Amino acid sequence: MRYSGLTEAQVSESRRQHGSNVLTPPEREPLWRQFLSKFADPLIIVLLIAGGLSVGISIYEHFGLGQGTEVFFEPVGIFVAILLATGLAFYFEHQADKEFLVLNSVDDDEPVEVVREGGVRQVARRDVVVGDIVVLNTGDEVAADGLLLEATRLIIDESTLTGEPLSHKSAAAPASVGATHCGRPHPADFTYPPDHVYKGTKVMDGHGVMQVLAVGDKTEQGRVFEAAQIDNSVKTPLSEQLDGLGLWVARASYGVAAAVVIGRIVAFFLAYGADAALGPFIAYLLQTIMLAVTLVVVSVPEGLPMAVTLSLAYSMRRMLKTNNLVRRLHACETMGAATVICTDKTGTLTQNQMKVEELKLYGDEASEELLFEGMAINSTAEIDFTASSPTAAVGATFHGFASGRPLQVVGNPTEGALLLYMLERGVDYSALRQGVEVEEELPFTTELKYMATVARSRADGRRMLYVKGAPEIILDLCLVGAPHEGAAPAPASVGATHCGRPHSQLALYQQRAMRTLAFAIQELHDGEEAIKDGRLVARRLSFLGLAAISDPVRPDVAGAVDQCLMAGIDVKIVTGDTPTTARKIGREIGLWRDGADEDDQIITGPELSAMTDGELLQRAQDLKIVARARPMDKKRLVEALQQRGEVVAVTGDGTNDAPALRAAHVGLSMGSGTAVAKEASDITIIDNSFKSIGKAVMWGRSLYQNIQRFLLFQLTVNVTACLLVVSGAFMGTESPLTVTQMLWINLIMDTFAATALASLPPSESVMKQPPRPRKAFILSGPMLWNILGVGGFFFLLLLVLLYIFQHADVRQLSDLLSLRLGSKGHLTTYELTLLFTIFVMTHFFYLFCARAYASGRSALHFRGCQGLMTIAILIFLGQVAMVEVPGLQQLFNVCGLSLKDWVIIIIGSSLVLLTREAWHLATKRA
Ligand code: ATP
Repeated sequence: MRYSGLTEAQVSESRRQHGSNVLTPPEREPLWRQFLSKFADPLIIVLLIAGGLSVGISIYEHFGLGQGTEVFFEPVGIFVAILLATGLAFYFEHQADKEFLVLNSVDDDEPVEVVREGGVRQVARRDVVVGDIVVLNTGDEVAADGLLLEATRLIIDESTLTGEPLSHKSAAAPASVGATHCGRPHPADFTYPPDHVYKGTKVMDGHGVMQVLAVGDKTEQGRVFEAAQIDNSVKTPLSEQLDGLGLWVARASYGVAAAVVIGRIVAFFLAYGADAALGPFIAYLLQTIMLAVTLVVVSVPEGLPMAVTLSLAYSMRRMLKTNNLVRRLHACETMGAATVICTDKTGTLTQNQMKVEELKLYGDEASEELLFEGMAINSTAEIDFTASSPTAAVGATFHGFASGRPLQVVGNPTEGALLLYMLERGVDYSALRQGVEVEEELPFTTELKYMATVARSRADGRRMLYVKGAPEIILDLCLVGAPHEGAAPAPASVGATHCGRPHSQLALYQQRAMRTLAFAIQELHDGEEAIKDGRLVARRLSFLGLAAISDPVRPDVAGAVDQCLMAGIDVKIVTGDTPTTARKIGREIGLWRDGADEDDQIITGPELSAMTDGELLQRAQDLKIVARARPMDKKRLVEALQQRGEVVAVTGDGTNDAPALRAAHVGLSMGSGTAVAKEASDITIIDNSFKSIGKAVMWGRSLYQNIQRFLLFQLTVNVTACLLVVSGAFMGTESPLTVTQMLWINLIMDTFAATALASLPPSESVMKQPPRPRKAFILSGPMLWNILGVGGFFFLLLLVLLYIFQHADVRQLSDLLSLRLGSKGHLTTYELTLLFTIFVMTHFFYLFCARAYASGRSALHFRGCQGLMTIAILIFLGQVAMVEVPGLQQLFNVCGLSLKDWVIIIIGSSLVLLTREAWHLATKRA
């Protein structure tokens, strides 16, 4: 590298002067405004109207009918409940927002290749400063605004800034380079000059070197745009499904409420006839409207959106801990429905710790010199001699050591392994690069599977073409002998290279799961064209040698693959490597079983592209390995699988993988992948490991299940509350539950239950079940029966109690054992308190049952459920406080209960949980 870059002292000084490379997040609405926006919720508006009505009724009762001040407790209670509901909802949503903010800042930690203190190193994007020399490679996101010092075929996607998807860039004239330090040379006739690059834009092709002119808010992106944020207002398929369900329940409850109002009015006229007095009728009507309002408030599942937001935020945060950075919200849940994972090999199944095991030279000593020269020049990788930690988050670490310290490769790992190989043999690759003028370069892509560079040889100034790449492609290009043999090359080595030893040697390497690489060169005459339209046109190459590179399989992959297979998810390897190497790796991870798997389950990219769509559709599901695959083969395979009804997750790390990543239901980019691949993906697997992909499936499935649990609980309470209010409405003039009581119940089931159930930890048990059908409705048949059965049972229980209380005077719960039913016709406050407390306590225990739904486990295991336990304690203490604390008693229209009553209620209600446990034990044994 010919630049020396800034010193550490200059970096600090620059940061002090020009600031850090982070964008100030857009100003958020002030908290009070966010809180007030909660009152725009239609349900809260309904409640406010109910509160207003209640105030009116109380004023009439107090001043008109001369009743005591206690009549004002109800309206006060309503307003307190409104404040509590809006306040809590606001608090939890604010928490969830904060989680998203954390996730949004992760991008600032992305590694950037810079030159400092004379060497190349990687720093986090946020640490780039004005004056830094930054290396730009294909697929990178430009870290800051800068002036191009070098540009080779550099094409930048500036669509985020100018709308220009492909903008050709060139290096600045030397004169302007000097000017960069003391200001921004902005030729007046250009908005965005071709020698400038801008933060947030992407390198689509070629590479370059820039000097940073502006960072953070001072960049064009900082001025023009707000920071890219995870938009958590975006609807995911699941939340759309839930919105539909919520709407349906809301409509049903409006219907029932309307029926209650009409029914009660009819009942009034039937009882009192047409000449009933207006005063009592208005009081009766207001009471009826209040009843209808509470019914609506209780039934509308307004906690549903909150439960989804909360569980998404929680899952995303926790997934980050298991190395999954979720970029698009829907990915969390879609991952849970995945039926096929198409994974690549390098880095995902293997460790990406490449080491050249053998380098086989086909030629003499002079060929060796050329081989090393080619390995140094025909490469974009660098070694960071300053990296001190082998586990640094950026880049890959390799088994090379310099002065006892592990070395880190910056850039392409395969090329890095070659540089390290040379270093280990005492060949200084940077010396070989010194003074070499690179004329032209064709960077490596998975599409081409080779890389080529045209440069003048340092040794004798000859114009040379250096090529390295997939052996079968390179061998096909080799037709003549090595150029060092003279100006008129002798064909001596041709025969040997083409059909002789390299092929058998290659087969041996590949059977050992090695990655193989071939090298070739060609001397070029002046003016002779070697690269044209992004392809190699030279055909007189001389074969130089072969490298066998080992990249061991990650130790945890076999287990993770097994877990996916057990979970009913198909795993397919789609790799750029050879069929033999891929099959060997497949065997090592337990995916390929000799004997059981047929040869036609492994095909190559060219074979795949030769298939018609119909043929591919036929075979897509059976394929296990696609070798020598190119990005478009991957995309076609993904689409064919999707047509077969599969939910496909696909991994990719290169810029060319973007179409496949976009086409997949869930695109998984790798932490070490390019910015373009990351942007096209839905999740970034930070540690690149297949194991983390398995974890993402587990999280996705758990998230879905948690929302199911919340629905189960919420809808059961709905059924009970609705039926009770409706039947109460027709049994007498009083509602068995007052408005404030209903609001407390609503708070429990919406806000509290959403918080407790939406953030339950994931369970490994979800991986023992097959994937859910793609279009499955979240409310399954068994759930519906559960809701109707349990809700109906709770209702019947409360109805019986209501009937008894209306026909007998109960002074303590034990009276129920020796009752004589008469015709009392009204409920005492004590009896109302009993009904209310029994309602809450039965549902309190039911919360634990809902938590254990579909877990296949006992509801009495509490490890890892601190959130749920806290909420349960809150509900219980809240209920005790309401019933026993004098001020609150009036608000909730209740009176104190004896200790004996409490014990009976708790033991009686806990039968809900015990029955579930007994059922669980019985069905588990069966
Ligand atoms: P996967 O796609 O599963 O990650 P892969 O890394 O082997 O597998 P590619 O990156 O497409 O797939 O590489 C395909 C082949 O191209 C390699 O087997 C190797 O022969 C060759 N190759 C890899 N890297 C380079 C490089 N930097 N320069 C030249 N040739 C390369």
